[in-house]
Amino acid sequence: MDGKQKNEFDPMVAPRYSEIATFMRAPFTTSADGVDIGLIGVPYDGGTTNRPGARHGPREIRNMSSLMRSIHHVSRCNPYELCKVADLGDVRFTKVFNEIAVVEEIEAFYRDLHEQGTIPLTAGGDHSITYPIFKAIASDQQLGMVHIDAHTDTWDEFQGSKFNHGAPFRRAVEDGLLDPKRTIQIGIRGAQNTSEGWDYSIDHGMRVVFMEEFDEIGVDAVIEEARRVVGDGPTYVSFDVDGLDPVYAPGTGTPEIGGITTIDAQKLLRGLSGLDLRGGDVVEVAPPFDQTGNTALVGATIMYEILCLLAEAHAKRHNA
Ligand code: MN
Ligand code: MN
Repeated sequence: MDGKQKNEFDPMVAPRYSEIATFMRAPFTTSADGVDIGLIGVPYDGGTTNRPGARHGPREIRNMSSLMRSIHHVSRCNPYELCKVADLGDVRFTKVFNEIAVVEEIEAFYRDLHEQGTIPLTAGGDHSITYPIFKAIASDQQLGMVHIDAHTDTWDEFQGSKFNHGAPFRRAVEDGLLDPKRTIQIGIRGAQNTSEGWDYSIDHGMRVVFMEEFDEIGVDAVIEEARRVVGDGPTYVSFDVDGLDPVYAPGTGTPEIGGITTIDAQKLLRGLSGLDLRGGDVVEVAPPFDQTGNTALVGATIMYEILCLLAEAHAKRHNA
């Protein structure tokens, strides 16, 4: 029995609606010791500039992720065979009304993981959470990024705060954590009051794929472009669910019509196979606007796609 007790609970064979929901039904532990890929919730939406609700994302994504199974139907990747995967719970805030303290608490959580060699895959939360994740995992190695979003999130401060969800990647570039020349932003669209964020991205050398270009050249050409931009270096995948069309993902604070389809998003992520991926996130799932629960299902499924990519990348690094 491979050391397993006969009556030991195995969530992968138990009825999927049973027990407490963890991400993907992975075992829950608060110790990252020996964990290759940690699944983490960051229940924070204090960085939203308009409609809040993403603080409820991790819990609903956990619930809908009970629908996930093991083997990817295209790549045949089974991440649980390649890596030790666990649900590491949520970042536990002690000063959730203080955004400076929030940044510090998220950074401290991820710094511990990074020091233990655990790769993080996160469910947000609003997009402001990605900056402190970068502070923790990119302090010793500048990262490139494949960023799917309707918004570049390279705006500056809003209402006096530098840590809003429109600014994480400007902060990450300023701190030297994110290499703008190895960054591609895909799905950008929607009217803005100024062009400041778009200009910042382009002026700093990011490759910005507006939705009209995506529609014109198609997903295969976008994959080729993403692979060219990030190259062989360490890379992060950040997936804002509002990059998708609100037909597929209405449960989000800042929906923009004319977006990416779910099948194109899946193809796009599968096209990143073989890259040196060091972490990822799915953010901006806002359950209060998610009347059918489908946005949480989409978030969970995208998270599973990224999990497979991270598992393959981890196995490649450790078997090389
Ligand atoms: Mn975003
Ligand atoms: Mn967005």
